[in-house]
Amino acid sequence: MAGIYIHIPFCKQKCTYCDFHFSTTFETYRLEMIESICFEIQGRKEYLQDKEINTIYFGGGTPSILLESELKLVLNTIYLTFSVSLTAEISIEANPDDISSISLGIWKKNGINRLSIGLQSFKQSDLDWMNRAHSVNESLSCVALAQEHGFENITVDLIYGLPELSMDEWSLHVNRVMEMGVPHLSAYCLTIEDKTALSNWVNKGKINPPNEDTQSDQFAKLLDIIEANGFEQYEISNFSKAGFESQHNSNYWKGEWYMGVGPSAHSFNGTSRSWNIANNRQYIKAFKEHSNYIETEQLSNIDQFNERILIGLRTIYGVRLSELSKLKKITKEFILALNGFKEKRWIKEDNQVLTLTKEGKLRADYIASALFLD
Ligand code: SF4
Repeated sequence: MAGIYIHIPFCKQKCTYCDFHFSTTFETYRLEMIESICFEIQGRKEYLQDKEINTIYFGGGTPSILLESELKLVLNTIYLTFSVSLTAEISIEANPDDISSISLGIWKKNGINRLSIGLQSFKQSDLDWMNRAHSVNESLSCVALAQEHGFENITVDLIYGLPELSMDEWSLHVNRVMEMGVPHLSAYCLTIEDKTALSNWVNKGKINPPNEDTQSDQFAKLLDIIEANGFEQYEISNFSKAGFESQHNSNYWKGEWYMGVGPSAHSFNGTSRSWNIANNRQYIKAFKEHSNYIETEQLSNIDQFNERILIGLRTIYGVRLSELSKLKKITKEFILALNGFKEKRWIKEDNQVLTLTKEGKLRADYIASALFLD
C-alpha cells in the first residue's frame, strides 16, 4: 500500500496568505512541466518497491487548471509505471472557479473519485482581501453542481481565525457546509506565513493580526457543530462522516510510504524523507540535463520515534506503544510525562494505543513536544 502525490505548481493568482510553491506565469512552459513530472514518475519506479498504489492525489498549486490532455498524460504514466489498485482513491484539489459541467465531466471520465474544494470562506470581503479567484456565489453553486455530476466523496476547506471574522459568521460558514451535504470538511486556522502579502500588511499595521482567543473559540465552536452533525474529528483539522476519511492523508498519518512528484513535493519511504527542488525552471532543467533535483534525509530512530508521536497523536489512529518501543527503548522520563498527561485526562490509552482526549487536542503540539526524545 502506497500513495502518489502530484504537485501542480501553477495558480491563476496569488492568494495573500499562501506560502505554498506555485507560479502564476506558467503558460509558456506548462507542457514542459507536465512532461518533466512524467519523467519523474517513470524515473522513480523503484522508489515504492512494487507496492500497490491505493491513493493518487493531485495537489498544488491548483491542479484543477490542468487540461484534460495534461491530466491524462500524468495518469497514464502512473498506470503504465505502477500497479494501481482498482479501488484507488484518486483526488484532485479544485478551486470553485474551475468547477463546471465540462471540468466535472473530464474528471469523472478520467477516474477522479474524490474532490477537495477550496471554499475557504462564505464572506465576499474575506475572499476579496485573500485574493481568492472565486466568489461566494461560485462557492455556493460548485458543490451542488459536483453532486449533480455524481461526485459523492467531496471535501471542502474552510479557514477560521480570519482578522474580521466574527463568531456568528464562522458558525454560519460551518453550518452552510453541513447543509451542503458533503461528507468531509478540513478547517484550518489562519497562520501568518513569512514573505506573504498578509505578513507584510500585518507588519505595516494595515490589517489587524488575528486574535488568538477568538481563534480558539472558533475552533471550539467548530467542534460543537461538527459533532452535532455526526462528523468525526479523525485528525486535528479534518472531519468526516464514517467511511469518507481521506485515505491519502490517513496513509501519511499512519506512516505509510508515499512518493511526491513535481517541484517542492515530499516523499517518505519508512526510513528517509526526500524533497524536490522548489523552483519550476530548475526542476524542468534537471530533467533536460539529467541532474539532481532531490534532497534526502535519513531518519534516525529518534527522528522516527518523535515523528510517530507528532503525527500519530493528531489522529484517532493514535500512537502504538509497541511501534515506539521497536524504534527506541521507552525511558522512565517518557513514562513519567505520559502518566502526567493521563492523570490530566489529556491522553488516553486503549490496548497500548495512545490517543488525545478532547481536552488534549487543544494542546496537541505541547503534549507531543513534551514526549519527544532528545
Ligand atoms: S490557489 Fe491555493 S496554492 Fe494557489 S495561491 Fe491560492 S491558496 Fe495558494
